[in-house]
Amino acid sequence: MARSKYRIDVGGRECVICKQYKLWGEFNRQKDGPQGFMCKCRFCCSDYASKGYQENRESSRERSRKWHKENRKRATERNRNWHQKNKEKRKENDKLHRRSKEGFLKRKYYSMKLRVQGRCSNPHLWALCPLLPKEDFFEWSNNNEDFHRLFQEWGEAGYPRKLCPSVDRVNPTWGYEIWNMEWVTQSENSRRAQITRYGGNIR
Ligand SMILES: [Zn+2]
Repeated sequence: MARSKYRIDVGGRECVICKQYKLWGEFNRQKDGPQGFMCKCRFCCSDYASKGYQENRESSRERSRKWHKENRKRATERNRNWHQKNKEKRKENDKLHRRSKEGFLKRKYYSMKLRVQGRCSNPHLWALCPLLPKEDFFEWSNNNEDFHRLFQEWGEAGYPRKLCPSVDRVNPTWGYEIWNMEWVTQSENSRRAQITRYGGNIR
């Protein structure tokens, strides 16, 4: 066997491409190679390391840059389409999530939180209004027959807005606290709000 100018021993060898000494584990097997391995390490054999790949990548990048430069309008269009497509997808997922009890309650709690924090359209109505802890809200809802019944009816009717379960505060001057909360339909909640706005009594 001809003497190799590369360092080879029982533990490994110098790769003929990257010239690094690596253990045999880093080389693919080759029956007639020294010690039964190839002279190029696994990394140097891989597409990633090959010159063709690098050149290819560079030229494909170059082509893409050029295309974008020459087709600015189409590029924005494509971009917009992509966002639009994903928006639809996101909307769809969102809808499914809203129609699961867990997702529904999470969302409901979040909107209550926004209100009491004054991050809503009429913050003056809600400022400093107390809000029960999230865990309590979930526990109360999951043990609430009205919630389960309304949720069921809402789904069976095809999720119309007016039948959407909604949390009513029995006394609207007080906050979201268990003794002051009731699950009703969205339309019942609005009806009550209308009445109390004009000083009436809901009972
Ligand atoms: Zn190598």
